[in-house]
Formats: sequence, C-alpha cells, structure tokens
Amino acid sequence: MKALAIALDSGLEVSVATMVHPKNLKDFDEMEKLFQNMGVKEWTVDVPCITGRLERNVEFQISPEIGGRYLKYGYGGGLHAGASQRGVDSFACGLYLMAVMADGRVAKCTFYADSAVGRIEEGLRECWQRIKPIRLDELACDCEYIESCRGGCRYRAEILDDPRGKDLYKCSFFGIINK
Ligand code: SF4
Repeated sequence: MKALAIALDSGLEVSVATMVHPKNLKDFDEMEKLFQNMGVKEWTVDVPCITGRLERNVEFQISPEIGGRYLKYGYGGGLHAGASQRGVDSFACGLYLMAVMADGRVAKCTFYADSAVGRIEEGLRECWQRIKPIRLDELACDCEYIESCRGGCRYRAEILDDPRGKDLYKCSFFGIINK
C-alpha cells in the first residue's frame, strides 16, 4: 500500500493485480472502493492456476464454482488490453503476449515457461514468430459469450482438462458452468 501511494503521488499510472483465493473473498468490495479512491487506473482480478507452489498449498486453491464469481470485480482494462479490447476478433487469449523469463527462456506466457519457444539470445522476433495464435474456432467453447470471453485462460483450460477446452472459471463467471 505504501508503494502504491508513492507511485501515485509521483504521477505514475498504476494498476493493481489481485488473485482470488479462499482467504480474501470478503475483501473485494473494500478493495474496489479503496483502489478507486486512491486513483488506481486499473484493477485486474483473476483466479490463480493450480500449478507450481499452489499445487502444494491447497488452502489457497479455489473451485471454478466459487472463484469464477469473483471475476466480476476489477475495472479499467486499457493498460493491458487484449485482443477483444483492441477490436481484433477470432483469436483467443495471448495474441499480443510473449514472456521472457529471468533465465532467458522465452515463452508465450509465464505459465508456459516449461514449454519455452526459444531463448532471448535467438532474438525476440525469431521467438515471436514461433508462437502460433490460437483461433476461437479451434476451441471446444460453444457458448453465446465467446466473443467477450474468448475462451478465458488457455493455460487454465489446459490444466483443467484440455488445451482447446473450456476455462471453467470463466464458465462460472458467465453462469453456464453446468452446461
Ligand atoms: S464461458 Fe466457458 S464455454 Fe464460453 S467461451 Fe468462456 S470458457 Fe468457453
């Protein structure tokens, strides 16, 4: 909070990212008011993928049925706009994203660090060209919300079931988890 205040006082545009977990569910209304009153430009709320250390810390894992409901929180969206916000149709999450890990591996996002497409020494352009965007019509998604949801998070879908499957947390957010 102190760092946030310093950044805002310095005139920086500030965004905050919050992960939903069983121990912070009661805090969301308060966080929303707090961040808006402070002048935070963008608040991103997401549910963590159950991978890495979260696999061993089960008390922080949350089900799609519960966690998905909290995806209604958050505001802004201009600082990290995805394909849908840029008016680009037909592609799933990650159209403009590539991550460079601290050890030099390059992957389509940090979740895919273990299936890196190359190394920074090979050049960003070369690595970028190896990442193939995923088209919406390749997904198993068949709901009426596909244009705004865009299949949610591809990595979350992959660890839940299938790389081309549904992100059940987003299905919960849209109220269609049982369909
Ligand atoms: S709500 Fe579910 S089925 Fe619909 S696009 Fe999103 S992930 Fe796919």
